[in-house]
Amino acid sequence: MATLDQLKSALRGTAAAIVPGRIGSPMTGIQYSDGFDIFTRDSAWLTYQDFIIPQLSRQLAPLLDSLTHVSVLEIGPGPKSVMGYLPDHQRNKITRYNAFEPIHLFVTRLETWLRGQSEASVPPLPGLQTPAIIHRAGFSKSGSKNVHQPNRSNNSTAQTHDNTKFDVVIFCHSMYGMHPKRDYIARALEMLKDGGMVVVFHRDSATMDLDGLVCSRTACFPTGVVSINDEDEELDRFTRFIAGYSPGSSVLAEWRQVCRSVGRKTKASGHLEFSAPDIMLAFNKHAASALPDLLANVPSEEKSMVRIKNRTARLRRSAAVVRPTEIKHVQYCVKWALKHELGLTVVGGSHSDHCIWPGIVAVDMSAFDSVHVLPPGVGVGRTNYPDTGSLIIAGAGSNTGDIIKKAMAEGLTVPLGSRPSVGTGLWLHGGIGHLARLHGLACDAILGALVVSAASGDVMCVGYVPGSHAPADAIRQKDDGDLLWATKGAGSNFGIVISVTFKPRQNPIYWTWNRVCPLGKSVVNARGMLRVYDREAKDLARSFSTDAYLYFDQGGLQLGESVYKVTSPTPDDAPAAINELQAEMINPWMVPRKNFEVKNAVDLFDTEMYMSAMHGGHAGGKTSAFKRCVFLRSVGDADVGEILVKALGSRPSPLCYFHLLHGGGAVSDVPPATTAFGCRDWTFACVVTGVWSRGQDDTETSRAVVRWVYDVVEKLLPLCTGVYAADLGPDPRDAVLAEKAFGPNRPRLARIKRTWDPNNVMAYSCPLPTNTAPMEPKLIILVTGESGAGKDYNAAIWTSIFTNKGYSAVVASISESIKRDYAQATGANLNLLLSDRAYKEQHRVALTTFFQERAREHPNLPRDQFLQLVYRHAEVDVLFITGMRDQAPVCEFSHRVPDSRLLEVRVTASPQTRRLRRGEGSEPPNVQTYKDTPLPYRPSLTFNNDDEAPGKEGPIKFANNHLLPLLDDKLKKLASMVRTTPNFPRPGINFRHILGIAQQPGGLSLCTSLLQQHFSGDWTKVTAIASCETGGYIFASPLAMQVNVPMIPIRAAGKLPPPTTVASTPAAEGGQKKEPEPTAKIELNLDALPLPGTDAHGSLAVVVVDDVLATGRTLCAVLQLLVKAARISVENISVLVVAEFPVHRGREFLRQQGFGRVRVQSLLVYGGA
Ligand SMILES: Cc1cc2nc3c(=O)[nH]c(=O)nc-3n(C[C@H](O)[C@H](O)[C@H](O)COP(=O)(O)OP(=O)(O)OC[C@H]3O[C@@H](n4cnc5c(N)ncnc54)[C@H](O)[C@@H]3O)c2cc1C
Repeated sequence: MATLDQLKSALRGTAAAIVPGRIGSPMTGIQYSDGFDIFTRDSAWLTYQDFIIPQLSRQLAPLLDSLTHVSVLEIGPGPKSVMGYLPDHQRNKITRYNAFEPIHLFVTRLETWLRGQSEASVPPLPGLQTPAIIHRAGFSKSGSKNVHQPNRSNNSTAQTHDNTKFDVVIFCHSMYGMHPKRDYIARALEMLKDGGMVVVFHRDSATMDLDGLVCSRTACFPTGVVSINDEDEELDRFTRFIAGYSPGSSVLAEWRQVCRSVGRKTKASGHLEFSAPDIMLAFNKHAASALPDLLANVPSEEKSMVRIKNRTARLRRSAAVVRPTEIKHVQYCVKWALKHELGLTVVGGSHSDHCIWPGIVAVDMSAFDSVHVLPPGVGVGRTNYPDTGSLIIAGAGSNTGDIIKKAMAEGLTVPLGSRPSVGTGLWLHGGIGHLARLHGLACDAILGALVVSAASGDVMCVGYVPGSHAPADAIRQKDDGDLLWATKGAGSNFGIVISVTFKPRQNPIYWTWNRVCPLGKSVVNARGMLRVYDREAKDLARSFSTDAYLYFDQGGLQLGESVYKVTSPTPDDAPAAINELQAEMINPWMVPRKNFEVKNAVDLFDTEMYMSAMHGGHAGGKTSAFKRCVFLRSVGDADVGEILVKALGSRPSPLCYFHLLHGGGAVSDVPPATTAFGCRDWTFACVVTGVWSRGQDDTETSRAVVRWVYDVVEKLLPLCTGVYAADLGPDPRDAVLAEKAFGPNRPRLARIKRTWDPNNVMAYSCPLPTNTAPMEPKLIILVTGESGAGKDYNAAIWTSIFTNKGYSAVVASISESIKRDYAQATGANLNLLLSDRAYKEQHRVALTTFFQERAREHPNLPRDQFLQLVYRHAEVDVLFITGMRDQAPVCEFSHRVPDSRLLEVRVTASPQTRRLRRGEGSEPPNVQTYKDTPLPYRPSLTFNNDDEAPGKEGPIKFANNHLLPLLDDKLKKLASMVRTTPNFPRPGINFRHILGIAQQPGGLSLCTSLLQQHFSGDWTKVTAIASCETGGYIFASPLAMQVNVPMIPIRAAGKLPPPTTVASTPAAEGGQKKEPEPTAKIELNLDALPLPGTDAHGSLAVVVVDDVLATGRTLCAVLQLLVKAARISVENISVLVVAEFPVHRGREFLRQQGFGRVRVQSLLVYGGA
């Protein structure tokens, strides 16, 4: 199936051969319209439906959301504007519409269309406030010629001037006759209002030379198809339109033949199909001016493009390839992208197809190619790094071969992949190699990374980076767990990695053995052999790894195998290793190609079967390849075998094959949520490998091979346990695959992406979910308490109360996965452990010990288990979690789920009740009165099973009073009063204007009544409300009036008359900011409170009211004033805030400062800063 570009060249070439030097006449309006129609119907319409309309809507969304009136200029809309297909809420915002349309016939139709189908129907652009202006002219690249024959619909007489500015200028398939296209886009950019956008859709991407213009976003639609009836008249309409003119009848007749020979004929309908890939290029006002600034500050090199390994990437036209040589250059790139609202691609080893993207600046990291091996002890310099072994620091421009070579010289190695030229993309996304079964994936060996943050352009040490390999101004995050976690499997999404710290292993040697089994042509035979191979591979010890190749050669299917036995480098091991190889590899049908060979890590690169043996070593010539990789538990299953074998039968190029990389072992030891690489349950990584010879680049063969790869992967998707993210990029065909990458970790990754790359600078890596999908339940309630207190019983009742009110609610047990592992390890009965109380009690002690051991091995286990449950139930409204044993879990975890309200309900019961519930019989003799074990922190709510009404009444009343109000509509109404201002006060911050509630009619009274109702203490026992200027006063004053208690103002020191007491806001340390925030002094007038020692002081209870809880520094100073200076007990202090931003970990800070027993409540909770 030829592309439309190729067809156009073929048509013009044919015409030139028939009538040299003469092209025909221009098309008439009718001829143009006939051709145009073909492109807006049937299969061609799918390009609009699946690509143009959704992309346009997505690109314009931020602009349309921020404006109430939008003006649009459309160039060459044809008889209808594509703007008319946007969703209602977007179309309604278009208040002004201008167009340039040179085809008169279209102008008339466009005017009719803009008026609506009939008098009664709603027009397609219903928000127009002035009549649309349609110029019966082409759009000119020089401004003065733009105004030409203004033609107003509705007979209006308004004029369009050259300097008229628009919010949106759109070229939707209207650039074909415009040369050079850059000048037309530049002219359109001049016509933009501040913040406006030019959007171009175009089919002929090869001719799209932007020459210095930079795109803010680009997207592609490689699967577009135009299908036409194979009839002479239709072919004439079509060919005239494609060639761009009307020739004589002899040429037309030849053109029909050209179509029939290069088009693909569909069997069913007899249509001819042509490939019509589409691209979208969006530009903002910086498009023309941004690049010189970057090129003046960051080195670039022409040769950069030459070294790009991936052919698809190499054929693309980036806006520029810069080649930073210093970290500050990389920072400049990111800051430049942030300043100009642009994206970047990054080039590591350049093996992926998305390291270069049309119209986008590529950052080539090849200058950072150093590899350092640090001997034991040298890397130590940060106290929380426990290991003093050797370290390897690999620059982002180094490749697998560089690292292995350097490490080997020191007797070390890193578990990387099998090709020496593959680069950083491998270890950032996983990294599967021959040591994976023994030592895990490459990403598992990552201890830290030096990263230029996509959010700020700052250099950050993520995890462990030795001081000697980090610049002095690098920021060391206090809590960088999320980023280190994300770097191990999805590391290309959050910033530009400068270097990675690896924990190396001892350098082994490899015994290798290549074997082949000819399978002939029988599908049954092939499936049978895969079954045998599968069984043998699964039984192998971890020091073995077997890669298989399923391919066609010498007239039949072949199953090739490369076996690797990893041993220590001592020569004495040789006989034992050979014996072991022979004993383990017993498959009698496999015929050895060579005898055993012993290789070191570097020589091993050349022994791969697909490099040396298969197809005679790439059929003796240069080839290009396209791969996608899925994870399979088994290749012995009949379904999998059938797909693989049949797919090879339909391969479009003889060189296509399947490569099975051996997994299991240490890869599967790591729980899925421990690193971002969440797909751990597989024995084979099946690389569907499409190969064609270089001479076939950009031909129908290469396109068919790519289609074949996607088709095969689609068939394997239902049978696989995951997809390898390393190969995935912004190609729309990857979107469905990306949904299966990262296992259960996608929601967490989406949140980290939102925090660490809020402007989507790294937009062209493996796609993470967009933030529109719910990522967490609205309300997460941790039900805690001692064993037998009634946690599960009450959680079940509370769940039913929410479901009765129409909410979705579930209870999940944090201990379930531990119970599952425990059952597996000990042979205990999982079902009984989950459902039978008495059985569970029998195993309680052993289970606790088991959990403690697991937690010692995986220090983040509790957090990972918590997040796994949250993400598994992301779509419910309310999630109850039982079985958590952590201290102060709300302080500990709320920043991990910042979009949810997280609270802890502690269920208490007397020892007697608990004994009875546990089935331990009657009360022990010495228990007289009951007190719950005192906690060093205050749970959000306490439910006393003994005190409350009997049976279900108590929990029902509790839920009605304390839990259901948390989803109250009035809270939603309050939330709707908080306006969000994007990128204020700096890029990446979505500013929530909490004080703006007071500006809304009824806002203050609503907020006051909610603060009063939601307070979980007793207002009648409150002596005073305290508040610190300024935000707090706004909400504290009306509340104090409402509940009729005095309000105590706390002010900056020096503003209140004596006697006063003063406290300082604690210094902020270790946060994202380089400089600690300055401390401030605040004071309280002591006359406001009864003196310590008086009766009245003894019963003092104070509620502190504030607008926001973020870092907690101001609140901390207020609490210090109340506790230390005014001697009020922490038990008698509560904090009520209107809005909380959990990412700043304010609660945890207060707890660390000794205020863990202070009750803290908030009305609204916001994710983000
Ligand atoms: C011939 C061949 C052999 C392969 N063998 C293996 C194998 O044995 N094991 C295995 O696991 N995989 C293998 N792969 C897959 C390989 O891991 C991926 O293609 C990987 O993405 C390539 O990384 P790269 O750096 O070479 O490519 P690039 O195209 O340069 O980078 C890949 C992605 O990583 C991003 N990236 C690169 N550097 C950085 C950086 N410094 N900061 C942020 N993002 C960055 C890029 O932007 C891009 O999105 C192989 C691929 C090929 C083509």
